[in-house]
Amino acid sequence: MKFSDIKKEYDLVVAGGGITGAGVFHEAVKSGYRVLLLEAKDFAWGTSSRSSKMVHGGLRYLKQGKFLLTKTAVKERERLLNQYPGLVTPLKFIMPVFDNYGPSMSAMKTGLLIYSLMAKEKQHKIYTKGRTLEKIPGIRRQNLVSAVGFKDAQVDDARLVLRLIFDACLMGGTALNYTKVMGVERDGKGNVAALDVMDETSLAKAEIRTKVLVNATGVFAEKLHPSPVKGFHIRPLRGSHLVFPLELFPITRVLSFIHPRDLRPVFLFPWEGALFLGTTDVDHDQDMETEPFVTKKEAAYLLEGINHVLPGLDISLAGCISSIAGVRPVLSKKKKDPSRESREHAVWKDKGLITVTGGKLTTFRMLADDALKAAGPYLSKQRQENYVQKMKGQIFSDEISRDVPEKALERLSGRYGRLAGQMISQYDKKLFTQIEDAKSLWVELCHAAEHENICHLSDLLLRRTRIGLLLPRGGDHLLNRIEALCKPYLPWDEKRWDTEKKSYMELWTKYYSPPLKT
Ligand SMILES: Cc1cc2nc3c(=O)[nH]c(=O)nc-3n(C[C@H](O)[C@H](O)[C@H](O)COP(=O)(O)OP(=O)(O)OC[C@H]3O[C@@H](n4cnc5c(N)ncnc54)[C@H](O)[C@@H]3O)c2cc1C
Repeated sequence: MKFSDIKKEYDLVVAGGGITGAGVFHEAVKSGYRVLLLEAKDFAWGTSSRSSKMVHGGLRYLKQGKFLLTKTAVKERERLLNQYPGLVTPLKFIMPVFDNYGPSMSAMKTGLLIYSLMAKEKQHKIYTKGRTLEKIPGIRRQNLVSAVGFKDAQVDDARLVLRLIFDACLMGGTALNYTKVMGVERDGKGNVAALDVMDETSLAKAEIRTKVLVNATGVFAEKLHPSPVKGFHIRPLRGSHLVFPLELFPITRVLSFIHPRDLRPVFLFPWEGALFLGTTDVDHDQDMETEPFVTKKEAAYLLEGINHVLPGLDISLAGCISSIAGVRPVLSKKKKDPSRESREHAVWKDKGLITVTGGKLTTFRMLADDALKAAGPYLSKQRQENYVQKMKGQIFSDEISRDVPEKALERLSGRYGRLAGQMISQYDKKLFTQIEDAKSLWVELCHAAEHENICHLSDLLLRRTRIGLLLPRGGDHLLNRIEALCKPYLPWDEKRWDTEKKSYMELWTKYYSPPLKT
C-alpha cells in the first residue's frame, strides 16, 4: 500500500496506529465501514510498543477504588487470552510481603479475593515464608512475611497492534504508516468534511473526504483536538524498562515488588527470552518529536529497588542489554503524584472529530467501542459487505504444518492469524527456528519484509520483531545476515541497506542502549 493508493473518500479515518487506533480501526472495519488508518511514524511506534507487556486487571487500581476499571480489564484479559492464544499468554505473578513496608498481608488477601471474584475463579495463592524463599531465590530475608501468587497475562504489545491492523486490512480496511494527519477541514455547519494528510517520506500532501476523524494519537492528541475541559490536559508521564539476559535471574513468572523509596509497584519479568525490569513514572521533559529514552537517574531508581529486594543478585548496568522508555497519555486535572493519576480514558466529541485517549493497552476494545458510539451520528447508515466470514475457519492444515515445531505454530498463529498458513506454505522450513536467545523466528523477518509495510530497518528490528531490544547491541552482529535474508523482499539497493544499517545503529545507541544520559 502506497500513499498514492489512498482513495479520495472514507466513512471514517483513524489518526494513530497504536493500540487505541488499531482497536478502533479493527472494530470499525468489522462493522462494515470504509475505514482508513494513518500513522505518522511506524505502526506501534508510540507507547504501544513500549509498555510492560501485561494484559492485566491492574490489581493496584483496586487500592485506588477503581473497581470498574479493574473489572473491565479482568474481563478483557480473559477475552484476549481466548481470542489470541500464542500472542496473549497466561503469566504467573509472585509478590513478596514484608512487615516493615508495602501492603500488609490482610490488604493483599482482600485485594486478591476481589480479583479472583472478578475473574470468576480462584486465581491466587498464599506462600509461607519457607515456600517464598524457595520460589524467589535470593529474596531479602529481613522482615519477609510470605508471598502472594496470582495470575494475569502477557503479550507482545507491538504485535497485538499489528495483528489488529493487518486482520482489519484482510477484512477490507486500509492502513498506511509514515503518513500524518495534519489538520481537519470543516463545512459551513462546522462538521468535519475533509482531512489534510501528508506522506512523511516524500512530503506529498493530499485531501481526504470524510465525516469522521477518530483522533487516537495518544500523548499527541491535543495537537489535533485541544482538551475541551478547562484545566484537564494530557500529562505525558514516562515509564522506563531496563533489559537484561534471562540467565541473570531465570524466572518463569513476574516478580512484583514494592519499591522501598516511594512504595510504587515495580516488576522484574521474563519476556521473549530476556529479563525486563520496570517501570518508572516521571514527568516526560524530553523532546516529544524524537524517541523517548531512559535516563541514568531512572536506571539508578530501578536498580536500587531490585537490589533491595534481591540483595544477593547485585544487578548493575554492566549486565544491561538495552533499555526502552514509553510515554503514558495520562489525563490530569490536578497534577497529583504521577502514580496516583487515573489510568482511565476520555472521549471528546466535536462535530465528527472524536478524540479517544488515556486508558490502557488491555482495555483497547472498550476505548474502541466508546469512540465508535460517539462517531455513530456521523457515520453512514449504509455498510459495506462485511468480510468477517473470511477470517473464520482453520488457519493452516495439518499437512502444511507437519514440519514446523508445535511451539512455532502456536507463536505464528497468535501473531499472524490467517497469514500464518501462508507463511508456513511459502518459506523454507529451515527458517522456522529461533534467532539466538530471542524468541523471534527467522521466518518472521522475511514475512515482515515482504508484507508488513517496512520503511526502515528499525521497523523490522524494533517492532515487527523485537530483536533490537532482546539481543546485545541491538543485534548488530546479525545485520549482514538479515540483509542477505530480507534483500529479496525489500526494494533497497546496497547503498540504501548501508544507510539503513548505519541509521539503525545510531538510533539504537541514542535511544535503546543501556542508559548513559542523565
Ligand atoms: C512504561 C509503560 C508501561 C505500560 N504498561 C502497560 C501494561 O503492562 N498493560 C497495559 O494494559 N497498559 C500499559 N501501559 C499503557 C499503554 O501502553 C498505553 O495506554 C497505550 O499503549 C496507549 O496507546 P495509544 O494508541 O493511545 O497511544 P500510542 O501507542 O502512543 O499511539 C499513538 C500513535 O499516534 C501517532 N500519531 C501522533 N500524531 C499523529 C498524527 N497527527 N497523524 C497520525 N498519527 C499520529 C503516534 O506516532 C503514535 O504511534 C503502559 C504504558 C507505559 C508508558
